[in-house]
Amino acid sequence: FFNLYLSCHVTGSFTDKATYDWSSEEEEPDGRARPIQVLVVKDDHTFELDEVALSRILLAEEVHNREVVAISVAGAFRKGKSFLMDFMLRYMYSQASEEWLGEAEEPLIGFSWRGGSERETTGIQIWSEVFLVDKPDGRKVAVLLMDTQGTFDSQSTLRDSATVFALSTMISSMQVQNSGFAMSVLFQSMIFLVRDWSFPYEFGYGQEGGMKFLEKRLKISENQHEELQNVRKHIHSCFTNISCFLMPHPGLKVATNPNFDGRLKEIDREFINNLQILVPWLLSPKNLDVKEINGSNITCRGLLEYFKAYIKIYQGEELPHPKSMLQVPMSCVVSSFHHYNVCGGDRPFLAPAELQARHSDIREEALQVFRGVKKMGGEEFSRRYLLQLEGEVDEVFNQYIKHNDSKNIFHAARTPATLFVVIFI
Ligand code: GDP
Ligand code: MG
Repeated sequence: FFNLYLSCHVTGSFTDKATYDWSSEEEEPDGRARPIQVLVVKDDHTFELDEVALSRILLAEEVHNREVVAISVAGAFRKGKSFLMDFMLRYMYSQASEEWLGEAEEPLIGFSWRGGSERETTGIQIWSEVFLVDKPDGRKVAVLLMDTQGTFDSQSTLRDSATVFALSTMISSMQVQNSGFAMSVLFQSMIFLVRDWSFPYEFGYGQEGGMKFLEKRLKISENQHEELQNVRKHIHSCFTNISCFLMPHPGLKVATNPNFDGRLKEIDREFINNLQILVPWLLSPKNLDVKEINGSNITCRGLLEYFKAYIKIYQGEELPHPKSMLQVPMSCVVSSFHHYNVCGGDRPFLAPAELQARHSDIREEALQVFRGVKKMGGEEFSRRYLLQLEGEVDEVFNQYIKHNDSKNIFHAARTPATLFVVIFI
């Protein structure tokens, strides 16, 4: 079904206000935006990225060169993630208008949200329409909404879900961590959203109560697991933005009535009031955070490349161990891209002294890149990886020496230019 879906032509399925229209030659059957499954975890626990579908969204003419704001909601299933995302879609489609919440009797549609306990596909869905938003600073950015599904009914699905969430975290610029306190690393904004908060007399609903609650939860206590202590110690230095929001229970109809279709009329007032604060707080143009990796803003096209690179990491043998959801985020991914091409490829022979000098300079640059990136786990934790980086650079250098020597003798050695890429996990 998803593979048959053929373009990003958008006419706005919620309102007619959507002004973007990036039709390609191919039209999907009814011209409506919809969720596109871009990552699937299959029954044998392998991951499959639908590159074609993802490219169609991210490489569409109007968006591919735009800086991207990638928003995801992660967390266990049946906790109202998709339900929330659909309100976020309403907000995006209404273009942040005052009346974004819609009519009292309007069913809530978009990403599929449903009661019941039947399994949904574990993976990542992206809304086929990428929204173009003008930020107050004059930039026009592309906003991508991502829904994640995980199931936690067995060890293997726990591992799959951990991987899905780790991936969605790396891909997002803003992530809402739905309930729970599974720490997750993010290079930018992390919002903990606590659902069904039932102690408003201790910490009030909303952001302020949330921050107080968060501070209390982040206090380090001696009997915590060392790893957890470590995460907490460094969490503030790692996130540019970290916040928390306490959300009230939406009421029994939402939670238990199988015929509930999402209409506002049947949702508790308190929930709606907070929704009205939460969604604009997350999505108003000034609050949209462009995706950054290593200090550079990423475009839709760039995000596609990262998606592909990250999925390769997780396709390897070493899937995140189910032992702890903490380790996945602890494995702060630092990518030190460095064009380490001292004398590679078709460059001419270099005098050994000059080779050594260039190596030293470029080596130092690579280490600077590593040091400059925010990492979780602190000094001791990252030292291991720093040593690894140094080791690998030195090894490549040794190869360069040999390579350079061979040019001296034969003058004809031709190998492709070397792009030295180190991705740490
Ligand atoms: P997801 O699996 O996390 O995406 O959850 P869904 O969005 O599909 O919602 C699952 C069920 O939870 C639906 O029946 C919703 O009506 C209900 N629901 C949505 N939001 C909330 C909430 O804040 N609290 C509770 N208790 N239920 C919710
Ligand atoms: Mg869902």
